[in-house]
Amino acid sequence: MKENYLGIDVSSYSYKNLMTHVVEDINEDKQSFIVAINPEKILTAQQDNNLMRLLNQATYQIPDGVGILIASRIKKGNIRERVTGIDMLEALCEMASVNGKSIFLYGAKPGVADQAKFNLIKKFPSLKVAGVLDGYEKDQELIKNTINMAQPDILFVALGSPTQEYWIVDNMEDLNVNIFQGVGGSFDVLSG
Ligand code: UDP
Repeated sequence: MKENYLGIDVSSYSYKNLMTHVVEDINEDKQSFIVAINPEKILTAQQDNNLMRLLNQATYQIPDGVGILIASRIKKGNIRERVTGIDMLEALCEMASVNGKSIFLYGAKPGVADQAKFNLIKKFPSLKVAGVLDGYEKDQELIKNTINMAQPDILFVALGSPTQEYWIVDNMEDLNVNIFQGVGGSFDVLSG
């Protein structure tokens, strides 16, 4: 269920459908990668083939921009609902807390992910947070070991775009995680 805008695939699933697919992916032990697509990323990718390939490599490209809704109407597509990165993060946390799945927060300045964790647990009291790690740790082996030892079902990566998306595709094979989402500055927002 994808539509294509200037070479970039965008998923036309609603939140509800996306959540159903994500839960299935976890239960079937599949790996999937969620990326938020906005008009800015679509434009940047026009001059950057690697970025275009990377965005199209994701399992679910969520429509994070009103421009995409407008384009979909014009092309008589089915994308009617904006799905922002931070809303998707919260929807995944809610799904995780209902289904007993766990999350890991990786990225942002030291202390920020801890505060985001605190605020997420306030909102979803039964949410299992397997771990947090700031985005300025440089030791890649330590990062991967920390995540693998925590065994989360869902990993949110907040390193800024497209660094976080490149990091996800470069490392997902080594990580024992099912769902990956690049979330940009979301931890900063959630920690406030
Ligand atoms: N960041 C990080 N490590 C780095 C560089 C950036 O963890 O080496 C974090 C930064 O602290 C911020 C996020 O990445 O929390 C980037 O946020 P921004 O709003 O710039 O990203 P965008 O949403 O524009 O992709």
